[in-house]
Amino acid sequence: MTALANSDPKKLDPRGRKVKILATVGPASSSPEMLEKLFRAGADAFRVNMSHGEQAMHAQTIAAIRALEAKVKHPITILCDLQGPKLRVGTFKGDRAVIRHSGHFTLDRNPEPGDETRVCLPHPELFGILQKGQRLLIDDGKLRLRVIRADANEILCSAEVGGVISNRKGVNIPDAVVPVPALTDKDRRDLAFAVEQGADWIALSFVQRPEDLAEARRLIGGRAALMAKIEKPAAIGRLGEIIELSDGIMVARGDLGVELNPEEVPPLQKRIVAMARRQGKPVVVATQMLESMIEAPTPTRAEVSDVANAVYDGADAVMLSAETAAGAWPEEAVTIMNRIAAQVEADNAYNARIHFIETPPDPTTADALAGACASIAATLPIAGIVVFTGSGSTARRVARERPGVPMLVLTPTLKTARRVGLLWGAHAVNTKDIGSFEEMIAKGKRMALRHGFGSPGSKLIMLAGVPFGTPGSTNLLHVVTLAGDELARHAEQGGVD
Ligand code: PGA
Ligand code: MN
Repeated sequence: MTALANSDPKKLDPRGRKVKILATVGPASSSPEMLEKLFRAGADAFRVNMSHGEQAMHAQTIAAIRALEAKVKHPITILCDLQGPKLRVGTFKGDRAVIRHSGHFTLDRNPEPGDETRVCLPHPELFGILQKGQRLLIDDGKLRLRVIRADANEILCSAEVGGVISNRKGVNIPDAVVPVPALTDKDRRDLAFAVEQGADWIALSFVQRPEDLAEARRLIGGRAALMAKIEKPAAIGRLGEIIELSDGIMVARGDLGVELNPEEVPPLQKRIVAMARRQGKPVVVATQMLESMIEAPTPTRAEVSDVANAVYDGADAVMLSAETAAGAWPEEAVTIMNRIAAQVEADNAYNARIHFIETPPDPTTADALAGACASIAATLPIAGIVVFTGSGSTARRVARERPGVPMLVLTPTLKTARRVGLLWGAHAVNTKDIGSFEEMIAKGKRMALRHGFGSPGSKLIMLAGVPFGTPGSTNLLHVVTLAGDELARHAEQGGVD
């Protein structure tokens, strides 16, 4: 892997923002031009949703993101989101149909495109188990069907709430236990594809038990980080173990809010964010954050408040779904999200609010030093924390402290530089490894200056492990002062690594 040199940072970063923005790519945003617009508007990471589209199309999207990364010379994170055992209807003639309120609607096994009277439900296992009176919630619960009669081939329903239904909309069956595996055959194929395409993160949908993560972990084989999407009530009871076995967590409010009463989601969101933060695992708050912007260039006040509250909770990232994947205003949605985050983080009360969640250290050298970084930054005029890391683990432990100053993550591993794109406050640079203490100080200062982390008289904290290049060896904390002549010398030398 070649190192990406950040030679023109002023145009890009630091974005002056700690929380990250994860934007879902879809028809509205997969062109190279729109991807670049979204990146420049503030997207740090892109979600490729395997629930929609074909692999060949996703390969093009991924290639376009990597080309953008090379162009802007900044690591960009790619998350491939596996569909999981999500139940979906088939397709419709003309891609959509209208189901009449209190009319009848049939789900069957006929793969022909559907209409206003019927559609295929391509999940044979459901035909045996559904019973009269059970609910089928479609498209995040927007439409509600109730089973009148079900046999081996047909499920006849009455539409308690009708409306527009379109191709492959999701179906939730909260009243029945659906016997589904954690990874479908499609997921296995998509996982192999995602790994081969160099995805940085792979997200697993509808995780119900800690065991569900094992097979994905084995198939990924260390080549990508694993994110568990929390969207099933069953996962809530074993959250601690699920977080422990994952590299990151998504609060997938869409399906979670369909399977549970919607009012149960906000307290759970706060609990999941707190638990993930305590374990030092990046946590993404997702779904409907700026939903009205699918159609309108401005959000509702309530949506703005929702995004702001996730930022105040100290989430690592906030996500856009259909707003950027299929909406009319993808660039505006990222712009608004960026503005909300900047406003919250500029609030004097922000620091106190994110520290409302306590994250006591584990008894490790890394946590002791990460805690020391945060407390030094609160005592001295520190311009930034420079973290030298191979795996990114030290950066995660520092981010876990939610320190009041920016963090510059220097790593010789391109994969790590890309992965920390979902980590709170991490500005990553993929750069050559260091071999000595002197090199560490010189490089730390040089990169900090180049990336706008310092001014004359300000201090930097450097965090590294000796011997250099040894994983898990974080044991060195050093405070340096940036002298005025170093700024001048840096300007003379230009951007040499
Ligand atoms: P999805 O996941 O967009 O893949 O359904 C997120 C959610 O359910 O909130
Ligand atoms: Mn979901």
